[in-house]
Amino acid sequence: TLQDRLQSAFKNLRGKGRLSEADIDAVAREIRVALLDADVAVPVVREFIANVKERASGAEVSQALNPAQQVIKIVNDELVTILGGETRRIRYAKNPPTVIMLAGLQGAGKTTLAGKLALWLKEQGKSPMLVACDLQRPNAVTQLQVVGGQAGVSVFAPEPGNGVGDPVQVATAGLAEARRTLHDVVIVDTAGRLGIDAELMQQAADIRAAVDPDEVLFVIDAMIGQDAVVTAQAFLEGVDFTGVVLTKLDGDARGGAALSVRSITGRPIMFASTGEKLTDFETFHPDRMAGRILDMGDMLTLIEQAEKAFDADQAAKDAERLMGGSFTMDDLLKQLEGIAKLGSMSKVMGMIPGMGQYKEQINNFDERQFDKIKAIIKSMTPAERDNPKIIDGSRRLRISKGSGTEVKDVNSLVDQFFGMQKMMQQMAKGGGIPGMPGIPG
Ligand code: GDP
Ligand code: MG
Repeated sequence: TLQDRLQSAFKNLRGKGRLSEADIDAVAREIRVALLDADVAVPVVREFIANVKERASGAEVSQALNPAQQVIKIVNDELVTILGGETRRIRYAKNPPTVIMLAGLQGAGKTTLAGKLALWLKEQGKSPMLVACDLQRPNAVTQLQVVGGQAGVSVFAPEPGNGVGDPVQVATAGLAEARRTLHDVVIVDTAGRLGIDAELMQQAADIRAAVDPDEVLFVIDAMIGQDAVVTAQAFLEGVDFTGVVLTKLDGDARGGAALSVRSITGRPIMFASTGEKLTDFETFHPDRMAGRILDMGDMLTLIEQAEKAFDADQAAKDAERLMGGSFTMDDLLKQLEGIAKLGSMSKVMGMIPGMGQYKEQINNFDERQFDKIKAIIKSMTPAERDNPKIIDGSRRLRISKGSGTEVKDVNSLVDQFFGMQKMMQQMAKGGGIPGMPGIPG
C-alpha cells in the first residue's frame, strides 16, 4: 500500500545525521514510485516531488528534528497542501433554502450520498429535502425515496406514471416546493451515465442553470484510479462544481484519486463516503487524510511536540540573549523569518511602542530584498554570523558570490545589521522595550 511504501522510503533516512542531496534524491524517487503506483496523476506527482525536494534541500539543519523526521514532516505538510489545506465547509445560502446539487457518473454514489448528506444535515438541525432529478434509470426515484425514508427526510419526486419527465422541471418544482414548505436545504440528485456523456452533461448543466445551486458537489468513486482525472476534468468543463465528494474510501482504493482530484480541478474535497450505510460519511479533513495516508500518527505527534518544546526553549533563550545586548546575523535571519510570517517589517516594528525613533532604520529595510538578505546571511560562515565585524572586503566578495548578489548588497546588509545591533544594545541598556508584554520594560 501507499502507507507501507512511504514508510519504507523514510526508513532509509533513519540514523542519518544530515541529509545529502543524494539522500533527498533517493527518498524522492521512492515517494514518486509509491505515488504513481497509488494512481496519483502524473503532473500531480511531479509537482509534489518538486516541492518536497525543494523544501528538503532548503531545510535548515533543524535542532529539534532529525533528518528522517524533517522529511516526514515535509511530506506530511505537502500532502495536506495537495489535499486542499483547510477543511472546506458547506456555504449555506444567506436566504434559505441552500441548494446543493449532486453530479457525477452513474454508480459514483450520488443517491446514497443524498441520503447521507440529508441525515448529516438533519443532525445539525437543518431541515433538508431531497429532489429526485434522475429520471434516467427506472429505479432511481424509488432508490432516492428509500434513502430519504431511512434518513427521515422529505423527498420530492415527479408523479409516477407520467412517462419520462423533464428533470429540469422537476428540479425547479422541487425548489419551489421546498420554499413553500420551509425546508432550509435542498439536495438535488441527478442522473449519471457509465462514461462521460455529452447529453447527460448538458442535462446537469441545465439543472444547474435552473436551480442556481449554492454548492455543486462532484461525486467521484475513489476506486477509479487514473480515470478520476479525466472524469473530473470533464465535469469541471461540462457542469463545473464547487466541491468534491470522494466515495468508497472504505474499499481498497489506492488513494490516488484523493490526491489528484483537488490539484487537478482546484476544487476542494468536502466530504468522504466510507461505506453503504447512511452513517458511513464524514467531513473531509485534509490533515486527517494526510495523516491516514502517511499512517504515522505517533511520529507526527512526536514531531509536533519536539518542535513546540524547541520553539519555547529557543524563544526564551533568544529573548535573554537579545536583551543581554548581543545580536547576531543568525538572530537577524530568525527575526526576518518570523516577521515574514507576521507581515512587513515596518508594520511589525510600528506596532512596538517606542520604536518611532528608529523609524529611519526600519524604513530603510527594503522588504523586497528579503530573499536576497536571507541568501546573503546563509552564505556567511558561522563565525561571520556570530561576529560580523570580521567581514572584510574579501569576505564580502566571497559572500556576494556565494549568494548570487552584489558586493553592495552585502555592504548594505552589514551596515543595516550594525544599525540594528546598536538599536538592540540601546534597548537593552534602557531596560527593554517599554510596554511589550513579557519583556521587561
Ligand atoms: P449513483 O448512481 O451515483 O446514484 O450511485 P448510488 O448511490 O446508487 O451507489 C452505487 C452503489 O455504490 C450502491 O450499491 C451503493 O450502495 C454503493 N456505494 C455508494 N457509496 C458507497 C461507499 O462509500 N462505499 C461503498 N462500499 N459503497 C458505496
Ligand atoms: Mg443515483
